[in-house]
Parts: sequence; C-alpha cells; structure tokens
Amino acid sequence: MSIWQRRRSRSRLPMAIPPLKDLQYAECGYKVQALFTTDFVELHNDDWELAERDWARIVAEVLNSVGVERRATGGRAIKQAVEVAAAFLSDDRDWPWCPICKRGTDAERKESTDGH
Ligand SMILES: [Zn+2]
Repeated sequence: MSIWQRRRSRSRLPMAIPPLKDLQYAECGYKVQALFTTDFVELHNDDWELAERDWARIVAEVLNSVGVERRATGGRAIKQAVEVAAAFLSDDRDWPWCPICKRGTDAERKESTDGH
C-alpha cells in the first residue's frame, strides 16, 4: 500500500474499490463478465468475506501495475483496475485459481480446462 501512496502522492486516491457483490448487476457501471462474481466466490468455497478481501487486494495490485493508464485518477483508475482485474481472473486457462490465496489450484480443474 505504501508504494501505491507514493506513486499517487499528488492526488490522493480514495480506496473506493467496489465490492464483488456490486459487480453482479448489469447496471453496476463496470464491464465485468456476468458470472465473474459467482465464479470467484465459488472458488473460495462460497466464503464471501474471503472472496471480497482477495478481490480488494487484487484490484489494489492492478492499480499499482501497468494495467491502469498513468494519467487516470480517482474513480476512472478504479474502474480500469476493476475491469482489468476481472478480465484477468475470468481467463480460466491462464488463471483458474485465486492469485492471492491460491485456492482452486487442484489438478482436476486445471485438467478440465486443458482441452479448451
Ligand atoms: Zn483468494
């Protein structure tokens, strides 16, 4: 978090990362796959609290990365980070597991996506 604050020191970004539950709705304002929330929570054995925690951490990581335009600030940066993170996590072939807690790494699931 300290790196993030240093890089954005000129205009302090509010950490308003939308919770997973808000992304389920088509009107949420984010371009996120319809089943993203369901899949991500399922990956965490239906543990919403854990899924929300990891989701917030992933979006924060993306905010630090090249996934967000350098000039994007505030809500726009958050929006980009949310969409990049969700697209990234929706790609089952590359990331069938959670990069934070590593849930979903079982061989069975990986094998089932191989023939895709
Ligand atoms: Zn996780």
